[in-house]
This record gives sequence, structure tokens and C-alpha cells, in this order.
Amino acid sequence: MNWLTNFVLPKIRAAVAKRDVPENLWQKCADCGQMLFRRDLEAALFVCSNCGAHQRMTPEGRLGMIFDGGNYTTIELPAPAGDPLKFRDLKRYTDRLKEAQNRAGHPRDAALVAHGSIGSLPAVVACFDFDFMAGSMGQAVGEALLAAGRLAVLQEAALIVVPASGGARMQEGILSLMQMPRTVLAVEMVKEAGLPYIVLLTNPTTGGVSASFAMLGDVTLAEPGAVVGFAGARVIEETIREKLPEGFQRAEYLLEHGIVDMVVPRKEIAATLARIIRLLMSPAPSLAAATPDGRKTAF
Ligand SMILES: [Zn+2]
Repeated sequence: MNWLTNFVLPKIRAAVAKRDVPENLWQKCADCGQMLFRRDLEAALFVCSNCGAHQRMTPEGRLGMIFDGGNYTTIELPAPAGDPLKFRDLKRYTDRLKEAQNRAGHPRDAALVAHGSIGSLPAVVACFDFDFMAGSMGQAVGEALLAAGRLAVLQEAALIVVPASGGARMQEGILSLMQMPRTVLAVEMVKEAGLPYIVLLTNPTTGGVSASFAMLGDVTLAEPGAVVGFAGARVIEETIREKLPEGFQRAEYLLEHGIVDMVVPRKEIAATLARIIRLLMSPAPSLAAATPDGRKTAF
């Protein structure tokens, strides 16, 4: 019996056990299932070499990709507002927050704000972290967007927002819905200062986020295949009892229907942003140069 339990059984268990792939070495493509060598995937900016699917990126990875030379400075954001409604479903909201922060390894919420330069021009970027409670927008994310807007105005910089979000954070109820007008105000501040506001829609951008600041870009870019919409496709199908068209709510479909200005592959995003910011921010050629005595003439 000992021989069976001590020798045979472990062998059988080992043979049938799921072999854990070291998480940091290989990553499975969420779309085609291909196993991808993590280092190659990182070098390809998390675009699957087999099917071209744009995989999720960390906010730090995105900021490094967007800013010149990967150099940026993050700003301190107001601490998350805790649990204003004492909300509890299967778990307390405070516990969910703590879990999300432990998993993410940082004490912040679902948005990260940084400044630096893009194409040698000043820029502020607010980037969402979908892995943090599905990038949902509560008070802390609203504060992050406001801080980003204020900083852009202060630095006379372009504001770029990179949402990846399931929408408003239900655990904060009406307070999360109020972040919709607040984030719109953040954007308005930047627009009133005559500074560019650019949105890069990533997969997925839905709910209250798509219904507020994410749809207000002076220029709206989207990553290939990104799902962008308000309600999910299945909910819409069930409500209107009709089959939705192929590719509904995907970036390419939205480009065809005028919601998105450009669908930009990830490796071209930094250069595209630099080009747009340069076009929108570089001063027009000075007329003073044309006057023979070099006097500055205001036009
Ligand atoms: Zn793939």
C-alpha cells in the first residue's frame, strides 16, 4: 500500500496535473491562443506575432511607449476616497480595493497621470489600468482626470487620455456617475486654454467612460480591434432583438461610421501622436519675419 500511495500515486498526479507555464516567460494570446515568448511579445509592444491582436498593456508600458525616449514623470494623485457608501456585495468594497491594490503592487487607483514630452512638445498623459477593477471610474479616477487637465493647463501641454475601462464603478453608485460631468469639465479646461486634447481608445472602452471624456477628443485615435461602445453588444441584441452587424463596436467599424478619426497600430502610436500634437501646437509661421525692418507685428 505504501508503495502505491508514496510512489505510484504522486507519479500519476504529476502526469495528469496541469503543467504551470512560468507566468513571466510565456504569455498566451487572448485572441488566437498562440503561446508567445514574453520577451518577444514585449519587444513587439504586446501585439501578437501570430494574429496581430493588440494585447492589454500596463499603464507604465503605455507611458514608456508614448513619451519621447520612454522618459516621463508621474504625478502624485489624491488618495482614493475609500468607501463613501459603505458598499458591500459579495465582499466589502474596501476589501476589493485593497485586493486590487495588493495585486497591482501599488496604492493608487485605476488611472495614472504623467508628464513629459511627445515629439519634443510638452504633454500630459492620463492612462487607465484595466487590470485594476476593470479600469472602472470612481472618485479617484475622476480626480486623476481633473489633475491631468489642471497640469496640462499649467504646463501649456497637450492632454492625451488613454482609457481602458468597463465604465463607472458601481461600488461608488451615484458618486461614480458624477465623475462623468467632472471629467468633461477637466477636458473643457484644456480646450478653453486652447490646448489639444487627444483620446487614444484602447480595448475595451465602455459604459460611463465612453459616455463622457472618451468621446470628446479633438482627435480620436483607436487601437486596431478595440471594442468601444456604451452597452455591450449582447445586451443591445437582446434589447432590440436583432442581429448586430459584423465587427460592431470595433475600432474599424467606428472609423467607418465617423466615431473614430484614425485606427493606429500600436507601433505607430507614438509617431502619430507626435505628428498630431506638432500640427496642433506649433505656432504658425510668424508674420514678423516678413516685415523688412523685423518689427513684430501682431496679427
Ligand atoms: Zn494571437
